[in-house]
Amino acid sequence: MNVLVINCGSSSLKYQVINSESEEVLAKGLCERIGIDGRLVYQPKDGEKEITEAPMPTHTEAVRMVLDALVNPDTGIFQSLDEIEAVGHRLVHGGEKFAASVLINEEVITAVEECSDLAPLHNPANLIGVRACQEVLKDVPMAGVFDTAFHQTMPKEAYLYGIPYEYYEKYKARKYGFHGTSHSYVSKRAAEFLGKPYDSLKTIVCHLGNGSSICAVKNGKSVDTSMGLSPLEGLIMGTRSGDIDPSAIEFLAKKENLSLEEMLNVLNKESGVYGISGLSSDFRDLDQAVSEGNARAKTAREMFCYRAAKYIGSYAAAMNGVDVICFTAGVGENDGKVREMICSYLGYLGLALDSEANKKRGEETVLSTPDSKVTVLLAPTNEELAICRETVALLK
Ligand code: ADP
Repeated sequence: MNVLVINCGSSSLKYQVINSESEEVLAKGLCERIGIDGRLVYQPKDGEKEITEAPMPTHTEAVRMVLDALVNPDTGIFQSLDEIEAVGHRLVHGGEKFAASVLINEEVITAVEECSDLAPLHNPANLIGVRACQEVLKDVPMAGVFDTAFHQTMPKEAYLYGIPYEYYEKYKARKYGFHGTSHSYVSKRAAEFLGKPYDSLKTIVCHLGNGSSICAVKNGKSVDTSMGLSPLEGLIMGTRSGDIDPSAIEFLAKKENLSLEEMLNVLNKESGVYGISGLSSDFRDLDQAVSEGNARAKTAREMFCYRAAKYIGSYAAAMNGVDVICFTAGVGENDGKVREMICSYLGYLGLALDSEANKKRGEETVLSTPDSKVTVLLAPTNEELAICRETVALLK
């Protein structure tokens, strides 16, 4: 089955076409600057990357352009659009309504709309992508795969905030967690790779990218995760602060004369390793700056690793042990120094890193020594493939 996987943001749309039998990516790319001017990037398997500047006033034109590229007589991968048999949409926030992926119908769309106040930037954009595909692809079945769904197995003591219980009852204010598709994919993959049953492992997945989160997976179920009601909670990230005393927000808003909204913008977009280093949110830049003796870049990297290690320690406690720690996403898959610094806090777990293996990048690799009590795994994530698999499973 040929599945079109769509990840739609407010002004962008990323896509991949995956054949579910071979799991091969037949084409991929993105539309950028939707509603501004418009730019399509299209890359067929074994072909050159093409960039086309063309007006895209809305996501509907963006979807049309992607589909036109897929059936372009010269560089397209399909003869006709009938060859697209299903669409899998990444949906960000499913609230408490969705604990699994779903086939999209009007009822589902309404339910996702109802979750929009929990993710005002993401859900409406995701749904615009759904509507645009429905308009153009009419009767092709579509699935929604939620970032939050995997974490719906968290127990109350993990997901409730220590605030008046009515706020949970009235507004569903609680921890939801994100990156669920990645945490699920990577933790399953780790069990397969190690030849162990998924439902008998204690795994900690460190998804370290521009956005970062850590998840405790016990016997195949998410039991805790570092992101919260929004992706702002938890780790120090590229530009997000992660955990911070809420009183600091009031204190700083007064000092800087900022509104709550402006303050949250600072915490989301101007903080994290970017804010601390004053330099960049990208670890390649930070690593370079550290090697040139930049003290603030060094502090930013140390803070990032320290916070990650604290979460790993707390999740080892929550699960009463840990068998496997996985590193994934841009930083986790590529930055051996960061992995080494995080693991340097974890000797008390009997964890020993193999420094030679830790030089690997982007390739499934055991990074711990044979006598390490905890297996450390470099496990590349693949959210698009996970969405494709979920979509196909729902249609079977
Ligand atoms: P996103 O959260 O946007 O999906 P990714 O998982 O793609 O992010 O991660 C992007 C980040 O990965 C970059 O901002 C950069 O910090 C980091 N990264 C990518 N390649 C490398 C590398 N070779 N070394 C260190 N960090 C890297």
